Amino acid sequence: MDFGLTEEHKLLKQTFKKFCDKELTKDYVAWMDENCDFIPDDLYKKLADLGLFGMTIPEEYGGAGMTFTDFMVAMEEVAIASAAVAIGAGLAVSFGAKVIGGMGTEEQKQFHLPKIAAGETKYCLALTEPGGGTDIINSMRASAVKKGKDYVLNGQKVFISGGHVADYMLVVAITDPTAAKRTKGMSVFLVDAKIPGITVNLIKKVCIHACGTTEIFFDDVVVPAENLLGQLNNGWNKLVDVLNPERIGTAMLSLGIAKAAYKEAHEYSLQRFAFGKPIGSFMVLQHYLVDMLIEIENATNLIYKCCYLLENGLPYHMEAAMAKLVAGRASEIAAIKGTEILGGYGVCMEYSMQRHFRDYKQMIFSPISDEMAKNMIAQWTGLPKSY
Ligand SMILES: Cc1cc2nc3c(=O)[nH]c(=O)nc-3n(C[C@H](O)[C@H](O)[C@H](O)COP(=O)(O)OP(=O)(O)OC[C@H]3O[C@@H](n4cnc5c(N)ncnc54)[C@H](O)[C@@H]3O)c2cc1C
Repeated sequence: MDFGLTEEHKLLKQTFKKFCDKELTKDYVAWMDENCDFIPDDLYKKLADLGLFGMTIPEEYGGAGMTFTDFMVAMEEVAIASAAVAIGAGLAVSFGAKVIGGMGTEEQKQFHLPKIAAGETKYCLALTEPGGGTDIINSMRASAVKKGKDYVLNGQKVFISGGHVADYMLVVAITDPTAAKRTKGMSVFLVDAKIPGITVNLIKKVCIHACGTTEIFFDDVVVPAENLLGQLNNGWNKLVDVLNPERIGTAMLSLGIAKAAYKEAHEYSLQRFAFGKPIGSFMVLQHYLVDMLIEIENATNLIYKCCYLLENGLPYHMEAAMAKLVAGRASEIAAIKGTEILGGYGVCMEYSMQRHFRDYKQMIFSPISDEMAKNMIAQWTGLPKSY
């Protein structure tokens, strides 16, 4: 099976690498990690000008009409430079463009997609609630009740990436509490973040600082009926369907962390001396580096295999869940072993390793936990549902 990169992909990769080398320098990324809770506006604009947000948006809506694989190739470079910037950029593409493009009306697409491509509007997906993310179907309490022509939204969401900067929130809420199947009573709303009744608080966390995570309260928020996204009471299945490639995207973010940690550890192992030799000449550290490389190679192959399957209209769900797991593990091994290779400097702020060590953790349980991804794979192989 040939899922190698084409000449166009290699050119695209070079373009994004050049951009990242110039704009996402080690010092700037470290500065963002310490000082920013989202991608700074000028950088966001530069990413938009480079075409990142509009890559997968069809040309008639102001995008470049490129493929998901093209987007992944670009995101790989961004994620190597900064996982936080890649996640922040991914919100507009994966949640904004993908969900509105896949579920929106013609009017919604014409309004939002050109703005996303131009980097003018930001989005968040407000799904998870305090009662639990893995079992969100049963724990969801947020509700939207029809009053006249509008819906009145109440509830609380938690762990929402980019909620504090979002111009529009994609909010999932119960619209039919009597539905025999809970997923048949859920709808998605495209909520203007400026509507009164919305409160957003940043959650302090140890990882991915430059893409903040929030809790959001909706208190009698009046949402116009035309802001319903997709069908009433039938938003869940469509949303899950549209968001499926997100697991491949999550894997790519992990791969970026793994590659960055590997590169720093490899370079350090040649520069640091002990017992008169570079520490990279000690077999045990060489094995650490080789272990990292094997995991990175496995993750890369699986991610691009998923891209190949997706582009060719073949089933990719199981491979995407596996890619999420394998790439997450690659980032974990690279961050942990990389920290060991750097010795004491592994935990010092002047090196990036400490950031990779913190950042990889977010990839293990978001958007779904590793345990849940394995549950799903087990089920797809025909084993009984375990939960
Ligand atoms: C930094 C960050 C950013 C996020 N961004 C977003 C976002 O933008 N939008 C959004 O909607 N959500 C977001 N999330 C939420 C994320 O999707 C959830 O954290 C995730 O689904 C897990 O839910 P939970 O944290 O409530 O853990 P829980 O569901 O409480 O799970 C706790 C533990 O129990 C395990 N577990 C639960 N059920 C089972 C089972 N059946 N079998 C085995 N193990 C099980 C889990 O794997 C986990 O280890 C984000 C989370 C974080 C931390």
